[in-house]
Amino acid sequence: MGPVVTRPSHAIVVGGGLAGCEACWHLARRNTPVTLIEMKPEVYSPAHHSPLLAELVCSNSLKSLQINTATGVLKKELITLGSLIMESAIHHAVPAGNALSVDRESFSTFITERISSHPRIQIDHAIIHKLRDIKKRPTILATGPLTHPDLIADLQRHTGSDALYFYDATSPILYADSINTSIVFKGSRYGKGGDDYLNIPLTREQYDNFVYNILQAEKVPLHPFESETYYEGCMPIEVLAERGKDTLAFGPMKPVGLSNPMTGKRPYAVIQLRQENLSGNLFSMVGFQTKMTFRDQERIFRTLPGLEHAEFARLGTIHRNFYLNSPQVLTPTLELKGIPGIHIAGQISGVEGYLESTAIGLLCALFCLSKEHPIPPPPPTTVMGGLYRHLTTPQKRFSPMGANWGLVTPLRERVKRKEKKQALATRALHDIKQWKEELKKILGEDDDNL
Ligand SMILES: Cc1cc2nc3c(=O)[nH]c(=O)nc-3n(C[C@H](O)[C@H](O)[C@H](O)COP(=O)(O)OP(=O)(O)OC[C@H]3O[C@@H](n4cnc5c(N)ncnc54)[C@H](O)[C@@H]3O)c2cc1C
Repeated sequence: MGPVVTRPSHAIVVGGGLAGCEACWHLARRNTPVTLIEMKPEVYSPAHHSPLLAELVCSNSLKSLQINTATGVLKKELITLGSLIMESAIHHAVPAGNALSVDRESFSTFITERISSHPRIQIDHAIIHKLRDIKKRPTILATGPLTHPDLIADLQRHTGSDALYFYDATSPILYADSINTSIVFKGSRYGKGGDDYLNIPLTREQYDNFVYNILQAEKVPLHPFESETYYEGCMPIEVLAERGKDTLAFGPMKPVGLSNPMTGKRPYAVIQLRQENLSGNLFSMVGFQTKMTFRDQERIFRTLPGLEHAEFARLGTIHRNFYLNSPQVLTPTLELKGIPGIHIAGQISGVEGYLESTAIGLLCALFCLSKEHPIPPPPPTTVMGGLYRHLTTPQKRFSPMGANWGLVTPLRERVKRKEKKQALATRALHDIKQWKEELKKILGEDDDNL
């Protein structure tokens, strides 16, 4: 048995959502008394309506259960680590094919009962307006994408305004190996930047069809609390298309400075794909933030030359979502730089999705447990490790990410494309188990119930 750590005498968790409840659970079951501070039912965010903890604010789907998908593997990883949220999800699943969907009321009731009946968890219904209102450390801040505005203002004071974002305007991200590279060509405008971009060339006819499809596409309506105030720099492509037939061709799809080596000519319009990560397995569509429905995005983007078989790591979005520029403002243990002891968990850390938020809640709880023998982060070959790496790797334009295979370390060995995802999944599940064994040694835990 390795080192046995001294547990903190008390911890605070702010926010009783998915990340906060998961964090409380992992602290309390390891003999750390926790106070959970939750502003409901005194105050509700514009999207929360239930007095219960761990409320699902929108869909009741926790996404795919398939074991070769990154979201499917994240579920298994959470189960391996003893997740309360996953325990409830499995108990309260409703039929949904290959996805895990839950009865939202009984899902949240189960978690509320577990948390409120735990002898080491106390719940305070109060609003945290300022960081200095939190009197104890360690603290985990898990106040979600609709954090109380006073706390947002205080975080802004502490981190600086360039460290916070209020809208998530993200372009679709594709897996590199699903792009037909015999049609797209490499190059940067006017050759400035070498071969950094992949370019999809369009003829006039292809461009006109594409614009027509965008105008006809189904769009996601705004929530009542979201205003349609877009920055000019991240205008949805459909809004640009509505301004005039050629607006996109003069905007994000302008062909200037590019010549198609296959024809020697400048295309009528171009869609540029930019490398998203160091390993080069993800590419984003430059300037393609959109509110088209996910179904229509996939359908329409696959009509583009070279993207007929495109697979998407994430699709375009624009929605209200408060989050921090974590690589800039957090330490490797996800604590606010300059304010040791305050860990940032859940969606505000820059992950996206119910289970991704849960995973970062769990991770922060582990980081709180051991100061003298630091907890190693999850391996980058696991989905949790990929999410962690996303939060800690400096990026030009940091934006939230859900679980996807592009975040994890690529396979070293050559594997047929069809077998790649299964190989990634097998490796992730093996490595998360090894990590768990390592944690048990550090935390001095004998039983398998970690
Ligand atoms: C409108 C909307 C729709 C979404 N739909 C989906 C979806 O369909 N699928 C999906 O996977 N993800 C969805 N998301 C993202 C979703 O919010 C996250 O996946 C998940 O809920 C984040 O978990 P969390 O624990 O970080 O935050 P939350 O679950 O939001 O929990 C935060 C908690 O903190 C409390 N709180 C906030 N500020 C304070 C304060 N100052 N003091 C005390 N308590 C406070 C809140 O009341 C809340 O209970 C959606 C988000 C929004 C805004």
